[in-house]
Amino acid sequence: MSDKSGGSTKQNMSKSAPVESKGPRKIKALPSRPVNNIRDNTFWYSDGNIVIQAGVKLFKLHASRLQRFCVYFKEMVDLDGGDAKRIEACPVHNVPQGATAEGFKAVLYVVEVPFETFTSKLTLPGIIAMLEAAHLLSCNSALHVAKRRLATVWDPHPVPARPDPENVIPYTSTIATIHRAGDYNLFSIEKRAFYELLSSENYWQAYFHTNRESIDLSAYDRERLLHARDVLGRWWREFVLTPPEATQRGNPATGRTKCKWCTYKVTTERERVWRLFIIGKGDLEHGALDPLRYNLVDLRRQDLLNEWWCMDCLRNKENAWKAKTVEWWGY
Ligand SMILES: [Zn+2]
Repeated sequence: MSDKSGGSTKQNMSKSAPVESKGPRKIKALPSRPVNNIRDNTFWYSDGNIVIQAGVKLFKLHASRLQRFCVYFKEMVDLDGGDAKRIEACPVHNVPQGATAEGFKAVLYVVEVPFETFTSKLTLPGIIAMLEAAHLLSCNSALHVAKRRLATVWDPHPVPARPDPENVIPYTSTIATIHRAGDYNLFSIEKRAFYELLSSENYWQAYFHTNRESIDLSAYDRERLLHARDVLGRWWREFVLTPPEATQRGNPATGRTKCKWCTYKVTTERERVWRLFIIGKGDLEHGALDPLRYNLVDLRRQDLLNEWWCMDCLRNKENAWKAKTVEWWGY
């Protein structure tokens, strides 16, 4: 999509002035050029014999290579063009409907050049565009790469890792992942993407406060997500309101723990002080929004030590949370 919005301007400007130049500068009037005729600057081979159009972009390529890697082109009856429009004497063909220029170009990288360096730079929407284009073109090698890249972004390991604050994925991209993962039976990725949505503030903002119908998820999936959020939230609240287990339990009859270090030794007192802290700090509700990643003890360690909870008890609570996350995630 970025190709459509800025492709021609960027390309033309790069010829008159370096794009990197800083500070105010005069932009000369650009020579007029049809906006629907943007030649890709990477894939425009002077000895190519076919032009492929994807959106507003044109790619001049080798037909034999395209046919070797993409079943779609292999099965095209009249690849030489016949009466087709021609550019530089090459017949012009379109990519299948639904494939974008960005996705097609990503597929070309796999087919035409060593791909690892390029695909590792793709953003999530880029990977999804590639997945779709590869699927529509029946290009197995690119499909394989796209799936592998998707699995890397959405780490399917037991418990989702803390999101990278530098690289926040918009919830709309997460929804696109859910759709594609469903299409290609990538169940672990779908599950992981569902959790990302479940813990996305922006998603719930849209769900509760703007037009719910505008969210590109089926009513069934939206309900499923709401239910999962309620259940996980309930589990979290139950867990987090329970005070840490003392390393040595002491005598249940007296209700006293044998924790050497904690100030709070009587069970009822431990419960009262702990709950006040959790509710007062807002962890009861904040944690419920992302219970698999909300490491309470790690976040509040110093405050809890200042409140005279001991290291051993805090370690017990943190370990209990780690065990719970595995149980809640369902592996
Ligand atoms: Zn203790």
